[in-house]
Amino acid sequence: MTLRADDLASAGLIEPERLDEIRRVAEEFSVAVTEDMAALIDPGDDRDPIAAQFVPSAAELAVAGEELADPIGDQRWSPVPGIVHRHRDRVLLKPTLLCPVYCRFCFRREAVGKMPAMLEPAALEQAYAYIRERPEIWEVIVTGGDPFVLAPRRLASIVRVLDEIPHLGVIRFHTRVPVVDPGRVTAALAAALTAEKAVYVVVHANHLRELTAAAKAAVTRLVRAGIPVLAQTVLLRGVNDDAAVLEALFRGLVAMRVKPYYLHHADLARGTAHFRTGIAEGQRLVRSLRARASGLCQPTYVLDIPGGYGKVPLAASAAAPDSASGGWTIEDGDGGRHAYPPDPANAKE
Ligand code: SF4
Repeated sequence: MTLRADDLASAGLIEPERLDEIRRVAEEFSVAVTEDMAALIDPGDDRDPIAAQFVPSAAELAVAGEELADPIGDQRWSPVPGIVHRHRDRVLLKPTLLCPVYCRFCFRREAVGKMPAMLEPAALEQAYAYIRERPEIWEVIVTGGDPFVLAPRRLASIVRVLDEIPHLGVIRFHTRVPVVDPGRVTAALAAALTAEKAVYVVVHANHLRELTAAAKAAVTRLVRAGIPVLAQTVLLRGVNDDAAVLEALFRGLVAMRVKPYYLHHADLARGTAHFRTGIAEGQRLVRSLRARASGLCQPTYVLDIPGGYGKVPLAASAAAPDSASGGWTIEDGDGGRHAYPPDPANAKE
């Protein structure tokens, strides 16, 4: 059973005297916590990283001047309902705005969980027509909301339509379901994703504790169905803004056959300032991570530029031009500096 704002006190996740505060937040932004995530929360720990992600707080009512209702500029690039076409070769398709949980830092928090929650059949047909008519579109990213809340029959229908569009090469699903509501990833759901084209699944996970036995079983069902699985993570103060925490998460994902793909700098969504780190802090963390863990455990640290200008990598370059030599100075993972190419006089025999 999914917990809503009014259930959080009786479930022991908040003190009853906080109910008014939670209700005020719920008037602005959707609230839902799945049983799987509620079971992970330690109510005695006021810094619990799972509670921080799903249990609302009054901090969300404070809106910083730089925060935006549409922080990554989806609306600017939405030619028809349910489609975002920001980059020439790919589109987002949003068949639903429902999610199994509502993350307190969500970049689409103004829309998710609100009505109309489903794309009407006529609008879905219009979205398909938009994709069919544009041969430059190579990839469709099915997102939302969370497309894995749809019944397998509906997912199969989306996959079937997209699979028949000749110019598409890839169908990619973005979802939090395998982690936060893993019981939904049934054999029927995995079978619904079967296609001639490449189907990828990108799961959203932010902390090692989310990688429960049930989450691993859900991912295994997808992997055994032949679906490559990647992960995206949001860098969040109080949840994973620590190199050891990120290292443990990414090692955990790789060990369950999931490749960490993106580490997102938290977006400027309204009421989320308490989650955001600075960019310099993020750069220090990813540099430290590079020194600690295998290349398989290194996602690309990215920022979605506010206003809809797309994603860009943020990690500081290890290479700086050296005007004296005309070559480069390269910094290793421990901060040591090396000339490139090396001075032949110092070359090892
Ligand atoms: S699952 Fe994704 S879209 Fe849904 S609330 Fe969380 S971050 Fe937002």
